[in-house]
Amino acid sequence: MAGRLKGLPVLPGSTLGVLGGGQLGRMFCVAARTMGYRVVVMDPDPVCGAGLIADVHIQADYVDRSALEKMAEQCDVITLEFENIPSESVRFIADRTRIYPAAESLEIAQNRDLEKRFALDAGLRPVPYFALMQESDLEQAAADIGFPAVLKSNTLGYDGKGQYVVNDFSQLRAAYDKVGKVDCVLEKQITIHCEVSAIVARNANAERANFPVSENQHRDGILHMSIVPARVDDRLAHQAIEGACLLADALSYVGILAVEFFISDEGVLYFNEMAPRPHNSGHYTKDACVTSQFEQQVRMMCGLTPGDTRLMSPVVMVNMLGDLWQPDWLEIFTQNNIKLHLYGKTEARSGRKMGHFNVLAEDVESALATAEEVFEKLTK
Ligand code: ADP
Ligand code: MG
Repeated sequence: MAGRLKGLPVLPGSTLGVLGGGQLGRMFCVAARTMGYRVVVMDPDPVCGAGLIADVHIQADYVDRSALEKMAEQCDVITLEFENIPSESVRFIADRTRIYPAAESLEIAQNRDLEKRFALDAGLRPVPYFALMQESDLEQAAADIGFPAVLKSNTLGYDGKGQYVVNDFSQLRAAYDKVGKVDCVLEKQITIHCEVSAIVARNANAERANFPVSENQHRDGILHMSIVPARVDDRLAHQAIEGACLLADALSYVGILAVEFFISDEGVLYFNEMAPRPHNSGHYTKDACVTSQFEQQVRMMCGLTPGDTRLMSPVVMVNMLGDLWQPDWLEIFTQNNIKLHLYGKTEARSGRKMGHFNVLAEDVESALATAEEVFEKLTK
């Protein structure tokens, strides 16, 4: 039951804050304002996409104590756009106002070694890996994991950055030098049959709701498409949802938790990583579910009951990166079943996420066919 905890639920008319003003912060702001909340965003970038939507944009760095103080004073509850907000800043705010997810959840999700250990303890199966803490660990890591393998920096990686596929020991050593000899994990390279993600929402009263599992296709380490319903065995989809729920409960999590999994050729579901926030693979929910992941983020931080996560239509989400700028918009708008979402970014760089579109259709195969056809035309 929402409302038992002190100060919760936080109702429309109150002020919500978000640390981070990129596309995830922007879509959060849209959802919050739609529901009648005021929104304060903090982001050092003067032209960030969320700043254009928020009531107030505090242009400051995430470690600026006086700015954090100001934000805490203005907001009834605060959330995060991405996991690399320094956890000390989250603790600083937590001493002044409510902030979800908690610093403890964030610290686990920020660190690949910690999150894999946490997942293992919660009953999930991470990809076999070795935690590399120093150069002298390289030989043991290679002996334990074998090749091919993937070397990933423990912290600050995203969209395939800070990671290298290595096929032998000399490549491993070179990759370790390239990442700057920071703490890493060496993972066994899995032959991936399919990647899926499960997004779960949980509030401070431990009420939970999960979105349908999405099937994710990547290009160059960046999400390209999400397909829902995922074309995977029901048993595996169920396992993914169960895994995400186990993690959320083990973390006493409040907010949106996205969990990425690999399905190997042998049909084994491996935990890959988790994100303590809405996820790119959940953008399909904006048009295809009763409640979007951003509305759900608002509901969770405010201590409201989770919204219905039912899928209303098969859907394919396609990411639009800076590589294909300027797109021919008419290719999208002449289709009556495509919903376009742009993030308000003026500068298009290669690999930069500029927007996405959702294709809704009677069945997933025709949504996929339209998505592929339109994407092809856009890239011509
Ligand atoms: P990021 O934080 O950049 O999203 P991920 O660990 O999710 O990092 O890796 C990005 C992508 O690289 C994955 O979605 C997957 O396609 C591929 N990948 C990562 N780790 C492995 C692995 N151990 N075996 C095979 N492919 C992998
Ligand atoms: Mg990933």
